[in-house]
Amino acid sequence: MSIKENLQKIKSTLPEYVTLVAVSKTKPVSDMMEAYNAGHKVFGENKVQDMVEKYEVMPKDIEWHMIGHVQRNKVKHMASFVNLIHGVDSIKLLEEINKQAMKHNRVIDCLLQIKIASEDSKFGMSFNEANELLGSRAYSECSNVNIIGVMGMATFTENKEQIKKEFQSLKNYFDQLKKEHPIFRVISMGMSGDYQLAIDCGSTMVRVGSSIFGARHYSEQ
Ligand SMILES: *Cc1c(COP(=O)(O)O)cnc(C)c1O
Repeated sequence: MSIKENLQKIKSTLPEYVTLVAVSKTKPVSDMMEAYNAGHKVFGENKVQDMVEKYEVMPKDIEWHMIGHVQRNKVKHMASFVNLIHGVDSIKLLEEINKQAMKHNRVIDCLLQIKIASEDSKFGMSFNEANELLGSRAYSECSNVNIIGVMGMATFTENKEQIKKEFQSLKNYFDQLKKEHPIFRVISMGMSGDYQLAIDCGSTMVRVGSSIFGARHYSEQ
């Protein structure tokens, strides 16, 4: 099937309140343009440098999502155009995003990455850490960032019950945080292999790569 057909098939199964982020990491601009010409305008990349290079050559009405882990010294390269940063997991990173957003007179939307997988992963905060960050003075002083929700990745496993439990825990964290932070509106969870399950568990934003663009054949860290 073509990229266009893949997109149409996936979109036909999504509730209208769910945003589809087409994850184009490692894929060429020609593939992305095929999606763009089919009417798709929301793309996710996991490396700042790649996203900047693609941003420079692609149409300007695209919504760019940074879905990977971000190093602080890279924030400045995307601050003028990025629409949503999914993987914020420290106040230090948030403060840098705020500083760079200020330079461009923008307010940048962010999600807190919460660790829901049982496997050892370097990235993501615990619920308590996220709650503390949101209540902190440091965050209240960040006038140019808005944390509008949470992002999480389930364990890489075939065990659907386990994945479901992890997604449910993220939805539960979101609901608790939203009580104090009514601006919360995004739960970013679900990828090619598990986005339907994620939606059943309350996802409002799915990040789908290989089911749209085909398998990625080379290493991507
Ligand atoms: C690569 C990636 C995806 C998409 O993965 P697929 O399985 O190809 O859909 C989603 N989220 C993040 C954070 C990723 O790095």
